[in-house]
Amino acid sequence: MKAVEQTSADRLHVDVMDGRFVPTLSMGPLIVEALARCSALPLEVHLMIVEPERQLESFAQAGAACLIVHQETCPHLHRTVQQIKDFGLKAGVALNPATPARWLQEILPDLDLALVMTVNPGFGGQRFIESSLGKIRKLREWINGQGLACELEVDGGINAETGPLAVEAGADVLVAGSAVFGHPDGIAAGVKALEAT
Ligand code: ZN
Repeated sequence: MKAVEQTSADRLHVDVMDGRFVPTLSMGPLIVEALARCSALPLEVHLMIVEPERQLESFAQAGAACLIVHQETCPHLHRTVQQIKDFGLKAGVALNPATPARWLQEILPDLDLALVMTVNPGFGGQRFIESSLGKIRKLREWINGQGLACELEVDGGINAETGPLAVEAGADVLVAGSAVFGHPDGIAAGVKALEAT
């Protein structure tokens, strides 16, 4: 994490998985709290969990700056987004690869961030799904068309080859795991390789 702080990365993206919405289990609020205590970068927490509304407060208290929930897990998405904002945090919503862009259309003006998953969530190191580019383009069109401040982020399979495709389609935030933490020359080189694209 300290190595990431030395790069141009502007945030840390934490993947929280519950073993139900996605097959894998990862970290919870305790780890987020430990990260927040020693990180100079804001923490963006991607909640790949069912019933995320039950956990918002724990992650807010843990020190998250932004909470991202999945559209697929929120039958009352507008309420959940407002709950996140009521904690004084930025609110984001993620879409799985098979979820259409239009499912975010009405909520877009309320969002600080829209996240397009370019792999099926749950594991690192998967291949980028290129059909997601059309979804990124549509969201970019709606965000610009309405003059919204919403960031458009992509997550999954981002590396020096796929990053430029996502940016060209309209993404303004790239999440990278393996391309940064698995780079043979280290974390700084991983971020530089993405920057250079
Ligand atoms: Zn993520």
